[in-house]
Amino acid sequence: MSKICTLSETGELLKQANTIVIVSHVSPDGDTLGSSLALMHALRSLGKEVVMNVDDDIPAVYSFLPGIQEYRRFAAGEAVEADLLVVIDASSADRAGNALEVVNASAVMNIDHHKTNTHFADYLYLDADAAATAEIIYSLLLTMAVPLNIDMATCIYEGLYTDTGSFKYSNTTSNTLATAAALLKLGVNPSTISDNMEVKSRHQVEMLSEALKTLTFLHDGRVAFVEIAPELYDHNIDTDTFVSYPRYIEGVEIALLFKQVEENLTRVSFRSKAVDVAKIALSFGGGGHQKAAGCSICAPLKEAEKTVLKALEELFV
Ligand code: 5GP
Ligand code: MN
Repeated sequence: MSKICTLSETGELLKQANTIVIVSHVSPDGDTLGSSLALMHALRSLGKEVVMNVDDDIPAVYSFLPGIQEYRRFAAGEAVEADLLVVIDASSADRAGNALEVVNASAVMNIDHHKTNTHFADYLYLDADAAATAEIIYSLLLTMAVPLNIDMATCIYEGLYTDTGSFKYSNTTSNTLATAAALLKLGVNPSTISDNMEVKSRHQVEMLSEALKTLTFLHDGRVAFVEIAPELYDHNIDTDTFVSYPRYIEGVEIALLFKQVEENLTRVSFRSKAVDVAKIALSFGGGGHQKAAGCSICAPLKEAEKTVLKALEELFV
């Protein structure tokens, strides 16, 4: 079990450490990357030695984030020493990839906003009401009295933008918008961020058009899913937004994206209007939020689909 920290205790622990490894979760998104990079810029401004890690490829769409080139992927068997290992926006240890094995740290800290958090770290700052971990990072930097610069502001804005679906999901609060407003005052230009985020590669749109051909409805149209077969899947192409197509079809209450990413591994994304899909994802070893969650199933595409869709059946009896 973790020691639950306040924001000022979290800030104190960060200030006490000199060498810090910041870890973003696997299948990285704009929140884990933006939050981690903002924290990196802040800690370096305080003179800390910071190493950035993610045990995965980073989608090209994030290449505009200041500092993104700092990320390293640890080799298995590598040994890294640190005072503190900070895992950002990950609710369970597996989401940290190999960092927990590679890094020999005096303590592990976890900063997160997922209600499914498994308390895997020594120290935990958890705010399940925060729209994004980036919203927590903004408050943390204020608490630590770190002067924010445009790089930190851009990275924090990116986290808010991603996890709120550009400020439209139900997790968007007045605090989220007040934070965004403060970031604009620091020089963030919303259209620069959205221009970078919304641009699609031609291959991405071609893959989307193939994925949409698989659109399937179940339970009188209350469930819809799309799939990406292994022969179509390309880890260099960002598919994070594909689930929004079934999600916004009239009458759909639960939308899913299935993609087979390895011979025996299928990633599942859940989106819902009301049903707690975090619970369903958690039952498969994943996690997330009530209306947006995910998990990995150790099975090929069709088998994983059968297993997950069976679990949904009881909701529609
Ligand atoms: P997405 O479907 O965009 O990959 O993920 C939706 C939400 O669920 C995100 O908040 C993400 O962090 C969380 N999530 C996705 N996959 C997993 C997983 O395998 N394990 C856990 N713990 N959370 C996940
Ligand atoms: Mn997040």
